[in-house]
Amino acid sequence: MSPTDLPTDAAPAGVPAPAPLLRVRGLSKSFGTNRVLESIDLTVGRGRVLALIGPSGSGKTTILRCLNGLEVADGGTISINGEVTLDFGTAPARKELTGLRDRSAMVFQHYNLFPHKTVLENVIEGPIIVQGRPRAEATAEALALLGRVGLADKRDAHPFELSGGQQQRVGIVRALALRPQLLLFDEPTSSLDPELVGDVLRLIKELAVEGWTMVIVTHELEFAREVATEVAFVDGGTIVEHGDPKQLLRNPTQERTRQFLHRLL
Ligand code: ADP
Repeated sequence: MSPTDLPTDAAPAGVPAPAPLLRVRGLSKSFGTNRVLESIDLTVGRGRVLALIGPSGSGKTTILRCLNGLEVADGGTISINGEVTLDFGTAPARKELTGLRDRSAMVFQHYNLFPHKTVLENVIEGPIIVQGRPRAEATAEALALLGRVGLADKRDAHPFELSGGQQQRVGIVRALALRPQLLLFDEPTSSLDPELVGDVLRLIKELAVEGWTMVIVTHELEFAREVATEVAFVDGGTIVEHGDPKQLLRNPTQERTRQFLHRLL
């Protein structure tokens, strides 16, 4: 078993393993002459939580953006739930990129809410405009989700009237409202004041317990240890090591991982 195929696809003997929710093979990306991703392989099973850790500039955000179709990779394949496969070795069809965007939703470091729209309008925009769902249905679902994160009374507020933690909870609700198969988080707490980090991490932990499949870029190693089912250490655009969080964070097999973790202690 390769490190990138760790326990995600396990099935009883004789039973065909279900397709992993996310399968990435040989993903590569350059910006001009800067080779940012070098043949990334990742497999994430349904209901599993992968934490991507690594130094700044190592390519973690670019991986997420390729998974969400916000960046178009130069080579490799991304497949979600066996339903959509993009082969970046060929010019990906527009339809396929849309398929990728439809199946994943991103939570951004800086929330990326529309400043001129209310909380409710921010949440229902995607379901109505992008997915063509009826306004009444999208609104009812948005209000239920806002209630769940304790923000029902902020439905008519604008983002500037909210704390960072509240804005990020709206960002998470906005992602959930798209009913994605895969949730992507890009350092979801690194813009928050320390006292607001806990609420957001608790919400993400609840989503993990509910069985959402997630890829999370994070510097919160304690959170990764507690919530992730697997951790990948990214450095220089490659996955240096991928494995069980407790094992990898305490006792990495690669010297580069060891040095990175040491610097954080
Ligand atoms: P990380 O998330 O690990 O901090 P990033 O994926 O943001 O790393 O960046 C990886 C590298 O790609 C960095 O060298 C960064 O400067 C470069 N990069 C990221 N996005 C762009 C872009 N849109 N244009 C040019 N270079 C980029």
